[in-house]
Amino acid sequence: MNSPHSTGFTAPPKKQLGQHFLADRHYIDRIVMAVNPKEGDFMVEIGPGQGAITLPLLRQHPRLTVIEFDRDLIAPLTAAAAPLGELTIVHRDVLQVDFTELAGEGKLRLVGNLPYNISSPILFHALDHAAAISDMTFMLQKEVVDRMAAAPGSKVYGRLSVMLQAWCEVTSLFLVPPGAFRPPPKVDSAVARLVPRDPAKVGIEDPQRFAAVVKAAFGQRRKTLRNALDGVCCPAQFEAAGVRSDARAEQLEVPDFIALANAPRD
Ligand code: SAM
Repeated sequence: MNSPHSTGFTAPPKKQLGQHFLADRHYIDRIVMAVNPKEGDFMVEIGPGQGAITLPLLRQHPRLTVIEFDRDLIAPLTAAAAPLGELTIVHRDVLQVDFTELAGEGKLRLVGNLPYNISSPILFHALDHAAAISDMTFMLQKEVVDRMAAAPGSKVYGRLSVMLQAWCEVTSLFLVPPGAFRPPPKVDSAVARLVPRDPAKVGIEDPQRFAAVVKAAFGQRRKTLRNALDGVCCPAQFEAAGVRSDARAEQLEVPDFIALANAPRD
């Protein structure tokens, strides 16, 4: 009989798809509790795999959309989900899925034990669609969650921290040890919640310009901003933003980056 947390499908995990399946019920329950789906929520899971999160979620919320790239997992998922609720499977690379189109008039609640090899691209992809997302509960490498939630001055504060924290409230929820997965990954994992802010209140005038300033600033993080942002920000822009050009990127708060990107050229 199938375990209640798995389709029972036992093909060898595909390393290139980051397949580390959750097998510890304690952590699965904690994730589902953290998500806490409510009636009417538009729940979307990225990478359902063998259903470790999908099936318990479906029991609480009998309508779920999942995005899975591995064709071999589709039939077992469909069969395991059938008695539990309405599962819509989008068989695609998540990076090709237009979340805004998927959301339609509503907003998505994203959940996923993400494939770690593409977790940062997935986060940036979600940012591109932040206005269509009400929240995200993701399992990632602990090291990535540390970077996502890092504060200025921290060694791991960088582009990912500033980009995510500008557009979302980021909270690290709890750690998950390698032994909770089959096969176990080599690294610790952590679950994080991201709640997109109201774009009108974020205050970024030109998202592309903001992204370019943050990228250039951390591209050469040991240099002063004056040097790292040579050709990107002029002295008048530093002055208008109230940002010292002899500071380093890691010393700036998120609002400083926003002010710098918004500052008019003289
Ligand atoms: N949710 C399951 C669990 O917790 O056991 C599986 C998680 S596993 C870490 C990641 C899942 O993402 C796998 O099922 C894998 O096939 C799927 N995946 C990998 N790359 C993907 C992509 N580009 N688009 C959609 N799904 C992908």
